[in-house]
Amino acid sequence: MMPRRISKAIQIGGVTVGGGAPVVVQSMTKTDTRDVKATVRQIKQLAEVGCEIVRIAVPDAEAARALVDIKKQAKVPLVADIHFDYRLALASLEAGVDGLRLNPGNIGGPGKVKKVALAAKERSVPIRIGLNAGSLPSEALAQAGLPKTNTNIADRMVVSALEQIELLESLDFDLIKVSLKAFDVPTTIAAYRSIAEKMPYPLHIGITEAGTPRTGVIRSSVGIGTLLWLGLGDTIRVSLTASPMEEVFAAYEILKSLDLRRRGPVLVSCPTCGRAEADVVKLAQEVEKRLQKITKPIKVAVMGCVVNGPGEAKDADVGIACGKGKGVIFKKGKKLATIEEKDFLSALLKEIESITKN
Ligand code: SF4
Repeated sequence: MMPRRISKAIQIGGVTVGGGAPVVVQSMTKTDTRDVKATVRQIKQLAEVGCEIVRIAVPDAEAARALVDIKKQAKVPLVADIHFDYRLALASLEAGVDGLRLNPGNIGGPGKVKKVALAAKERSVPIRIGLNAGSLPSEALAQAGLPKTNTNIADRMVVSALEQIELLESLDFDLIKVSLKAFDVPTTIAAYRSIAEKMPYPLHIGITEAGTPRTGVIRSSVGIGTLLWLGLGDTIRVSLTASPMEEVFAAYEILKSLDLRRRGPVLVSCPTCGRAEADVVKLAQEVEKRLQKITKPIKVAVMGCVVNGPGEAKDADVGIACGKGKGVIFKKGKKLATIEEKDFLSALLKEIESITKN
């Protein structure tokens, strides 16, 4: 893995983003922001599964007003996501949010960005310049000396972002975070690699509109995983057409697979094959479900037979190598007991609990 790029650190509420701090996991509420109760409930659920910063869409003035109550009840930093109307950004700042995400391509020109930046500066609230490939302002290309006909999306995203960074810097505002997201993974990677060399600010990385969990997790893992492997990325969001808690689980799995964060269990389970003599798929799925609330970093193995089973199971904190009607439970490398098939799940859970409760 490449050494991590050390960006300029910023604070989103009490969370440090950049400057070599651990990569921060974030997600976004999917409730109607005007529904304070439902939104606060979802923020709480997100925090429980490890979401460290929660972004909230602010589509209208009523949503901005709701932020006042939401902010009072939220225990994690909140970022207001603003499109089209800069006054919503000003109202969100009034409501006390910890960060703003603006899409400069649709906020209404430099004058409006300027007003928001000055209000954010007064409160020391960082702004993410969040560009999406689908909504790029076109003027930036000509100003950067690139032909207007340049169809390279990554180039266009970088040029636009640099223009916005320059605008904020001209106001002596440097609490900046940048994202350049596209659905297309190679474009996203090219854009982030390019901008990382051109400015010192932290990067929020992700693949936008990645899709349903089945394909979106793969697309996000390839894109975000590659960037992280290249040493880029200070905070990540996995975008899925699913519950936001699924996004957080996926984000941690990406970070754990690169050993960048340790949170919760790692489940090792074999793919099963013609040698499996128990329903390993069902057992592994059930174990995975039960592990979701555990925050301690433990390794659990569910293996289908005696070929690789004992080796992997021994290597885990708790493991099972299943056989015909019976299985062997391992704990911290030692064989603990041989158990009946009906007890596979309960015996595993008992041993997992004995490790995680302390
Ligand atoms: S552990 Fe056994 S059942 Fe599982 S994939 Fe390997 S050989 Fe097949």
